[in-house]
Amino acid sequence: MSRQARPVQVPRDWVPFGWQGIKVLVPPEWTPAALTGTYEEGYFRLDGPDQPRLEVKWAQNRGFVDVERVVSRYLQSLTKGRDGRKIDVAESTKSGLKMPRERSSVRYFHWRGEQEAFGAAWYCRTCERTMLFQTMGPVGAQVQELAEKLLAGLDDHPDEDRCLWSLYEFSCEVPTSFRLVGQRLLTGLLELDFERGRDRLRIARWGLANVALRDTSLEEWLRDKNRKQWRSFSVELRPVQVNGHQGLAIAGPTNIPWLHLAAIGLRMLGRHYPDVLRGAAWVCEPGNKIYHVEAVVDPADEEGIAAIIQSISCHRKEGA
Ligand SMILES: [Zn+2]
Ligand SMILES: [Zn+2]
Repeated sequence: MSRQARPVQVPRDWVPFGWQGIKVLVPPEWTPAALTGTYEEGYFRLDGPDQPRLEVKWAQNRGFVDVERVVSRYLQSLTKGRDGRKIDVAESTKSGLKMPRERSSVRYFHWRGEQEAFGAAWYCRTCERTMLFQTMGPVGAQVQELAEKLLAGLDDHPDEDRCLWSLYEFSCEVPTSFRLVGQRLLTGLLELDFERGRDRLRIARWGLANVALRDTSLEEWLRDKNRKQWRSFSVELRPVQVNGHQGLAIAGPTNIPWLHLAAIGLRMLGRHYPDVLRGAAWVCEPGNKIYHVEAVVDPADEEGIAAIIQSISCHRKEGA
């Protein structure tokens, strides 16, 4: 670069949003409005208080990807079938956007109608995904500046083998080997379900802890909520400190004898078999929430589950 470009600063109060290996720093008032698909192919949209602000679409491709074509198809889809919606599409090279990091075959675009949008598409050789990124806002509301800040705080894949899942003031790190197989994003419950082969992992955050625990203890509440899931395990709960809170460690071997024997047999052959329940639950008083993490894994994978539990930032630390 001949001229020194001033690095774009991401505002200090922006918060991480993490989904399917993609991490982006966003204004704290933006919330997910759509979360679909898988690691291989998917889409998310974050909305501000008044309107959609950020869309990211990805698809895995091995081999050559014509990013130019991805962009032109996308722009065509915007104008197609929407009579009366006038959109001016600017030439991609003239949008003035710049990716802060080196990417393969980046294309920029800009369109303007009732709204204005700046976007970029690129192919990442590391995660082998094509990314289509776009941020929207009212015309003349410095959308380009916004796009630059968002791109400055965006990573399209994790640096290590742990993936950040972060939304609604919740965040945790899960080994990339786990795949998301289910999600529940309700007012009083955020739940992410993962699988890794036969291993299962469930991370849940319940709201209104004071109401849920008004007439019961955390232990009784857990046993009641998980009666079905815990049926085939001899679950023991013991007091433990978790992330600065008094909580319960969850542990239990399978109570199905043949399964236990099969697991022992497989272990003698050096293989892992998930026949134990491991996890923890705790009440985070500042957030008035109950956290519950549990996994069905091989005992050898116990440490990995403890690391997931530790990675959860359940309340904002003082002064942070
Ligand atoms: Zn990538
Ligand atoms: Zn907490």
